[in-house]
Amino acid sequence: MPIWTDQPPQDTEDQAFALLRIPPTPGYKVLITSPGILGTNTHYWKGRTTPCEPDNCEACAEGAGYRWHGYFAGLRQSDRLHGLYEVPAAAAAALHDFARKVGTLRGCLAVFRRLGNRPNGRLLVTTQPYDLKAIELPPPPDVAKIMAHIWQTAIKNPPTARTTDRGRVLQIAGNGQHHKQTAS
Ligand SMILES: [Zn+2]
Repeated sequence: MPIWTDQPPQDTEDQAFALLRIPPTPGYKVLITSPGILGTNTHYWKGRTTPCEPDNCEACAEGAGYRWHGYFAGLRQSDRLHGLYEVPAAAAAALHDFARKVGTLRGCLAVFRRLGNRPNGRLLVTTQPYDLKAIELPPPPDVAKIMAHIWQTAIKNPPTARTTDRGRVLQIAGNGQHHKQTAS
């Protein structure tokens, strides 16, 4: 028998947010709803991005490198989908500049492109204030909470070993574990 409830669970809304990848399409626009960037050091570890946790970090213990990533929420301009975005430090600096000048990142229209229009090309961004009389922005979601949920879900569902476009999977003799190595 199912257990019926007369209202959705409290945290459904935050869990519904997805981390959206900024495509190589030039002119990809996001109307930012977060008041600022929230960033942390991350590892690319065991085939996925994981946060670096100062205490007892498995990736650090094994000498993995780390990169800072900034996160924010925004409406995709094409269809108003409210999602989360991840940007490297250089792009985050441009967004932070906007927030410093205007007083908030909320209401910033960020226009992205990637160098060479390549999927992994360096992310470039220009910013402009958006006319907020034309739209009522939804409240900003709790970015740290959603990212914690996304990362936890990834831990529970580890990627299966497979060959990817940028790397190859090596079978390490002896322990049976798969290790991904970026092709040089
Ligand atoms: Zn770490």
